Amino acid sequence: VKTENIRNFSIIAHVDHGKSTLSDRLMEVTGALKKGSGKTQVLDTLEVEQERGITVKANCVSLIHKYENEVYLLNLIDTPGHVDFGNEVARSLSASRGALLLVDANHGIQAQTLANYHLATSKNLKIIPVINKIDLKNAHPERVTEDLLMMLNIDPDDVLKISAKLGIGIDKVLQHICKKIPPPISSKDLPFRAHLFDSWYDKYRGALNLMFIKDGEITVDQEIVSCENGKGYVVRSLSILTPEERKVDRLVAGQIGLIGCNMRNSQEAIIGDTYYLKGTPVQPLEVFKKLKPMVFAGIYPQDQSQHLALKSAIEKLVLNDSCVTIQPDTSPALGHGFRLGFLGLLHLEVFVQRLEQEHQSSPIITAPNVTYKMKIQDIKGVLKHYNGKNQIEISNPKHFPDPQHVEEYFEPTVMATLITPAKFVGAIIGLCVEKRGVQIKSINLDHDRILLKYILPLNEVIIDFHDQVKSLSSGFASFDFEEHEYVSTHLIKLEILLNGSPVEELSNICHVRSSDQIARNLVAKLKELIPRQMVEIRIQACIGSKVIARETLKAFRKDVTQWLYGGDVTRRKKLLKQQAEGKKKMRQIANIQVPRDTFIKVLKR
Ligand code: GDP
Ligand code: MG
Repeated sequence: VKTENIRNFSIIAHVDHGKSTLSDRLMEVTGALKKGSGKTQVLDTLEVEQERGITVKANCVSLIHKYENEVYLLNLIDTPGHVDFGNEVARSLSASRGALLLVDANHGIQAQTLANYHLATSKNLKIIPVINKIDLKNAHPERVTEDLLMMLNIDPDDVLKISAKLGIGIDKVLQHICKKIPPPISSKDLPFRAHLFDSWYDKYRGALNLMFIKDGEITVDQEIVSCENGKGYVVRSLSILTPEERKVDRLVAGQIGLIGCNMRNSQEAIIGDTYYLKGTPVQPLEVFKKLKPMVFAGIYPQDQSQHLALKSAIEKLVLNDSCVTIQPDTSPALGHGFRLGFLGLLHLEVFVQRLEQEHQSSPIITAPNVTYKMKIQDIKGVLKHYNGKNQIEISNPKHFPDPQHVEEYFEPTVMATLITPAKFVGAIIGLCVEKRGVQIKSINLDHDRILLKYILPLNEVIIDFHDQVKSLSSGFASFDFEEHEYVSTHLIKLEILLNGSPVEELSNICHVRSSDQIARNLVAKLKELIPRQMVEIRIQACIGSKVIARETLKAFRKDVTQWLYGGDVTRRKKLLKQQAEGKKKMRQIANIQVPRDTFIKVLKR
């Protein structure tokens, strides 16, 4: 295939608007996927994706399509739609020259439609607007077309109307891809230059690297060198994903393919890195902005013997998810572990679920935190506690300074965009007020919908804000946000005591105004989550030495065998064994058995 006949493109959409379904149809029509094979959402290969029905990783598939007697190679790069995975979207777009902007004919333009659209146009991608689900009874393609014109200035004549589910209009989509999306800006005649944009770990072959071949070409046995670390790797295998891996002899300018090169150490594959052929060094390609993690949480092995296994599982996953940051950490109750940074809570949950499903690791996760900044009083006797610095950053409650030392607290905020049908606007505004939001804008879109802009504290949106927006609006409101600035605030450290012993892992940094509410919720939640035990348990929430909420968990002996009279020994043994298994899921804290998922469960409503 000639470089002029290559089309690299992505599908961008709000979650559930039909990206995965459309990908399946495009594969079917081009013959990559057998019709009626019963397989759906083939691109969502991770177990967690199939389970949650969301796309987490960007995946690529190469399709061959004949159009007007020319053979085209279409590289479709799937992107996730969820706010937490914006980095994956940016990454896929960096190799693309066009994007299908997919909008649900019933729900219309949503917050992430806008966010992804702006991201794509900022990278000069050719946009092909597509309205999906026209088969639905309550579909309003005309209305959505008008919205596209009003809000994004998209010409109604350019808008395609399809049903990905029923396969209506797919040919038109392929035609527009071939006709309207420009070929990659690549040349076979320039020295080899490739852009690493995804990488995953294979048990037998080590790191497999998905690369966009910007210029030149590559064959097996040649040696490529990383611009980032200067290391060379001999190419062992080349393949394209159709979506099954198909071996090829060479990859040429404009293509996207998988390069296996015996990279044993997973840390060496740096997303965004540029590779060149040994002997002909090149300038690195423009690297995309690396997103900063915003949510930090501790991850600990269930017992210390699993420390190394956990470490290697985390490292392998991070290879595939370069936005996660890792630091070693220790905790009095949980021992040696790690502190990881994530883009959001869903990102954290998906990461943990992948640890369990792909690496059989079930670690303990502590309460997530954002990064706060604090100005320390400029007094000599005080500053010596902070290495002489009068500005500190903390993302771990255990490092919370003595409040008497702090002159001013700062917390990160986000600029949030919410789009909601008018009838839910009261509830959504109520939620934003409860979360200490400041309204910046409220605009009536046409057809009964309202767009709100709010500045919200990041720590109020990381936990379950998105879920609440969804449930308050029966799923109709949408939400997206971008980083904003740090603002002055008043923070306290809320500590949890179990029978008088502080449990560092459960302590929380929060705003003064929300502390009472959070304290009451926390102790009530803990009472629910901690099973009754042989001793009575006092659960207290304190600020300094002041108790602001308390609950008591009555003693109770759970004898699973008490109802078994007579001498059925095997039965009795079996029950005791089951109880012992259950105990493995527990964590001993201050002589109290705490289920290991308590730390994250207490935070949710
Ligand atoms: P994604 O989150 O954007 O990948 O969306 P999916 O492809 O997973 O689709 C979300 C839901 O919409 C699924 O239940 C699909 O079956 C459904 N869906 C997708 N396309 C259509 C369509 O054209 N018509 C109808 N009626 N449903 C569709
Ligand atoms: Mg999907």
